[in-house]
Amino acid sequence: MSAIAAQAHAAPAAFDVARVRADFPLLARSVHGKPLVYLDNANTSQKPASVIATVDEHYRRHNANVSRAVHQLGEEATLAYEGARDKLARFVNAPRDELVLTSGTTQAINLVAYSYALPRLGPGDAILTTLMEHHANIVPWQLVAQRSGASVKFAPINERGELIVERYLEMLTPEVKLACVAHVSNVLGTVNPVREIARECARRGIPLLVDGSQAVPHRPVDVQALGCDFYAFTGHKMLGPTGTGALWARRSHLEAMPPFFGGGEMIRQVRVDGTTFADPPHKFEAGTPNIAGFVGLGAAVDYYETLDLDAIHAWEQQLLAHATARLRELPGLRLIGEAAEKEPVISFLLEGAQATDLATLLDLEGVAVRSGHHCAHPLMQHFGVPATLRASLAFYNTMEEVDAFVAALLKVRKLLL
Ligand code: PLP
Repeated sequence: MSAIAAQAHAAPAAFDVARVRADFPLLARSVHGKPLVYLDNANTSQKPASVIATVDEHYRRHNANVSRAVHQLGEEATLAYEGARDKLARFVNAPRDELVLTSGTTQAINLVAYSYALPRLGPGDAILTTLMEHHANIVPWQLVAQRSGASVKFAPINERGELIVERYLEMLTPEVKLACVAHVSNVLGTVNPVREIARECARRGIPLLVDGSQAVPHRPVDVQALGCDFYAFTGHKMLGPTGTGALWARRSHLEAMPPFFGGGEMIRQVRVDGTTFADPPHKFEAGTPNIAGFVGLGAAVDYYETLDLDAIHAWEQQLLAHATARLRELPGLRLIGEAAEKEPVISFLLEGAQATDLATLLDLEGVAVRSGHHCAHPLMQHFGVPATLRASLAFYNTMEEVDAFVAALLKVRKLLL
């Protein structure tokens, strides 16, 4: 069990939201003359001052390329970059040499699609995913399926926005060469039973990829304890800079996978008659990486480690319960996604008002929410809607902000009806 996971099992402590808010400079700003209420955290999180300062400090004092120069700055940059890998690996309990640093979940899943799946797929084979996935966990599979003659199967969900797990498991038939599932839905907040799915996949000898983008920011994740084969996640949703993320994969898979991109940094020796590659994870990290971004992500992990993750989770669940209860009071409001186990993401529609119009007017009230399909067209089709309004919360949100959001919603709704 990781240090973070162990910490999360300790007794919950009271959570001082005012203290953590002071760590996030952007939360103090106003928008259109109103105090900002930032409820678009599933899209990207805000960054604590320590992350901003670390990136600033990197460029002011340590900037150089990694793994190339013997000079002092090159060594400092390399140590900081590889140190960030260590921190991130510890955070999700991954061995450091099984953690490939990527630009985000999208690149991580594409790496698995082209390097792991494509060489193993042929006509008649299938990849299993679900109807609640982000396009990043659908489109790469469709692309490699088209190239190989395989197909993509979609496990269904129910009207509450929960995966129908029995169906998912029934669909794990011998032609399925890879199974995929989101740990947490970016639209519904639904938490999927990843351990149970991983157990069944392992019994059938089918590798499992988990999209952890929306899980890592909210709950302690121990990739090894989950029992999956691949775990992809994104740094910018977990307080880190944009353009950062990672893929954890079992060592045996990484060793068997050919490189996806070729170039500098990922080789052992290049000769005119052929190239030998570096060991994983560097084999998959061609070219100059987002060094400052990862150093900043390391600082984000340091920041999480100053917090009590159990207390964060409890606070987020209180915010979710309060926001859900307040929204339910509104006549004509339809909640999309009412799973028994959720992270703090709420999608909904208001009768008689377009989601985009509501989001535009809410912005004028200082409230940042997202409207649209949230990169989940199949899910929108399942619910028979073109778009939803989505409020997604983070541990630095407050009950007062939830109330301000609902008050703003009531106000802007009147303008539209
Ligand atoms: N998967 C899920 C569930 C997401 O929420 C997102 C981002 O919204 C992604 C994948 C893609 O992440 P990125 O754009 O950082 O690659």
